[in-house]
Amino acid sequence: MAVEVQAEQLVIGGRAAASEAAQTLVVHSPDDGQPVGTIPAGCAQDVDLAVAAARDAAAGWASLTYADRAGAIAAMLDALEACADEIARAQSKEMGQPLEMARSFLVETLAGAREELAGAASQDETDLDGGYLVHEPRGVAALIIPWNFPIPIAIQGLVPLLATGNTVIWKPSERSPLSAVVAMQAIADLLPPGVLNLILGDGRAGEPLAAHQDVDLVLFTGSVQTGKRVAELAAGRLAKVVLELGGKDPVIVDSGVDAAWAADVVAQGAMLNAGQICTSMERIYVHAEIADEFTAALCAAVPGAAGSQPLVDARQREIVDSHIQTAVADGARVLLGGERPDGPGFHYPPTVLVDVPQDTPLMREETFGPVAALHTVKDFDEALSLANDTTYGLAATVLTDDPEHAARAGRRLRASIVWINEWQGAVDGAQAEPQRLSGLGTGFGPGLWSELRTTRYVHSGSATPRER
Ligand code: NDP
Repeated sequence: MAVEVQAEQLVIGGRAAASEAAQTLVVHSPDDGQPVGTIPAGCAQDVDLAVAAARDAAAGWASLTYADRAGAIAAMLDALEACADEIARAQSKEMGQPLEMARSFLVETLAGAREELAGAASQDETDLDGGYLVHEPRGVAALIIPWNFPIPIAIQGLVPLLATGNTVIWKPSERSPLSAVVAMQAIADLLPPGVLNLILGDGRAGEPLAAHQDVDLVLFTGSVQTGKRVAELAAGRLAKVVLELGGKDPVIVDSGVDAAWAADVVAQGAMLNAGQICTSMERIYVHAEIADEFTAALCAAVPGAAGSQPLVDARQREIVDSHIQTAVADGARVLLGGERPDGPGFHYPPTVLVDVPQDTPLMREETFGPVAALHTVKDFDEALSLANDTTYGLAATVLTDDPEHAARAGRRLRASIVWINEWQGAVDGAQAEPQRLSGLGTGFGPGLWSELRTTRYVHSGSATPRER
């Protein structure tokens, strides 16, 4: 099927712009593999123009009061909400998320962003006794985004970046660029020209952006491999980086919990968005006393929790299938799914495996698929120790009715978030920094806002030279 190439998909300096790139990339529907759009492949010239526009706008945007910036950002959030249907449709088409789910995550994220904007520490200066601190934006920021929740993750970066006074170049993933084009068309006029710019493409846009001499800060969400490359590129000029990367999150199902309830929680945690969430439950450690009952309940809950969302593309499906087949070769048993289907698109059936050994890629490397990998443990200590046996450190979940176990898990699990009995829960003021390969810098909450600004200390001596 021929797909029309839209000429002016970028936004640079407040204007729709065509890319200078010679090549294009076709975006395919994960549902049936058919082409759904074409974008430029990205190039250094686009990056140069966008960075120059962001640099030109930086001083003016930084000089506005917080209230003025927040007013413009609030209008931007309203405009995104007004076209939520259109954005959700584009997102659903390009990365396969069901339409209603795409819409509801978007609206929820917008509501959270409004609260964050209203409650943020907004002062530019802090008085001290005999001096003061000046908090100022870092300058020009690159916002590099993955495909799994393309617009929600972009909003979670854009709001604090813009509110703290930075100007931004936003680069979505080549696998989910169409929703960004739709979103940007709705908001381009609501901010001063150059404050927010959109470029498109794959690493041919991302690499020169992360490497650009005039980019002061890179806020990157994506894989460990690309995150390391971004850190390397930024290190050449000692630019600030904040990296939110992958995970291999464990969940511990303790003895004594209600098996049906735990199975529902884990089915959601492992299957939502076809398991393509950085904090998906990828390793399930279940106490021997509850293992049989829990496993049966999980097999019953998984199909409903998974729905029929496809994986994003053939590459992702290959990773999922190879982890499963290797686990089986290493001794795991498949109770549900586990076979790549024929037919169009990139579907994979929701899969439950038991007896998964700790030393197989399914328990070691990020899988990012609709897979529940179970490993039975003899007690809570063994579960804690296996949960910590990983190179990642993003999040961990503990389902337990034992307060002592909950407290021990909160102290001992090496992860940036420990969810006790509530996957994805958070309250105002929550913030965390990923550990080990899962990232660098505080990735959400008030701490993220601090990462996006720099602080100057101004000291006031007590006497002028004439008085000394
Ligand atoms: P990738 O690392 O493949 O890509 C992330 C972004 O980097 C994309 O926009 C990509 O462009 C771009 N990019 C590619 N090459 C370069 C380069 N050389 N320099 C700069 N940028 C580049 O990640 P995915 O998109 O596959 O996203 C999935 C990953 O993201 C998973 O590991 C997941 O765990 C993680 N993630 C982490 C979250 C967190 O909060 N910790 C949240 C959500 C996801 P392109 O795609 O066009 O190649």
